[in-house]
Amino acid sequence: MDDDELQARLKAYEGRPAAVSGTGRDPVNAPMIRHWCEAMGDRHPAYTGPDAIAPPTMLQAWTMGGLGGHAGGRAGAYDELLGLLDGAGCTAVVATDCEQEYVRPLRPGDEVTFDSVIESVSGRKTTKLGTGYFVTTRTDVRVAGELAGTHRFRILKYAPTRREPRERRPRPVVNRDNAGFWEGVREHRLLIQRCTACAALRFPWLPGCGTCGAPGWDTVEASGEGTVFSYVVVHHPPFPAFAEPDHAAGPAGPYGVALIELAEGVRIVSNVVGMPCDRIRIGMPVRLDFRRYDEELVLPVFQGVAA
Ligand code: ZN
Repeated sequence: MDDDELQARLKAYEGRPAAVSGTGRDPVNAPMIRHWCEAMGDRHPAYTGPDAIAPPTMLQAWTMGGLGGHAGGRAGAYDELLGLLDGAGCTAVVATDCEQEYVRPLRPGDEVTFDSVIESVSGRKTTKLGTGYFVTTRTDVRVAGELAGTHRFRILKYAPTRREPRERRPRPVVNRDNAGFWEGVREHRLLIQRCTACAALRFPWLPGCGTCGAPGWDTVEASGEGTVFSYVVVHHPPFPAFAEPDHAAGPAGPYGVALIELAEGVRIVSNVVGMPCDRIRIGMPVRLDFRRYDEELVLPVFQGVAA
């Protein structure tokens, strides 16, 4: 299929339904409104009390089916359109923007219904991400048949631009505030800043003391002893640049990122290396090591200490 034929087929989806007779999973309700307001930090008084309305920007929230999907809903045309784009090599998707119009407020107890239509499919566009097509759907949200608001949602379905594999670990950002730290790392010394006015230790490096505000500082060298204060194990997506040289799981294997509490009392984010990630534990003793990742880059890492 050539480009013109594809464009014609895509255009034919404009005006076709993306969802028909959808119903909100839950009626508009106070707990969801409260959680939303807490997450957004929105304390507007209109969203609480006996006459509360829902924040207008929650419009889409009332139409979402969650992981279980919802009754009524997605029409075949939208899936067909996405399948057509997949077949044309536009396998990647990114949500680009949304627009909402509010016609009447939603209140707790309102039962929401909605219909979505494929409003437009753009011509072929080239973006930094790759070349593809913008697909806009419009969802009309109703209560008792009356329009409450409209939600336009636009995605870009695109063929990802091929990138050079980035095998090298990202470089640290070295600036005048932390240059001394990285000089220490090159000499295999982990240096902690110490305030010359109040002796408080601080890490990461900062231009002033967080305890007393004084600008003067010197350094103390960490003993290298520490414990895991907290950690995550990163499984996906795999970043070959973060593969550990001795990684039993191979270059795409998981890696452990930990907040290490040093014996001196400050904490540092680093990697726990030299052991399977599923053995990392909070409170586990670790010991500082320095690992060379390439001709330029040495990083402080931590080895698990056998109990
Ligand atoms: Zn101080």
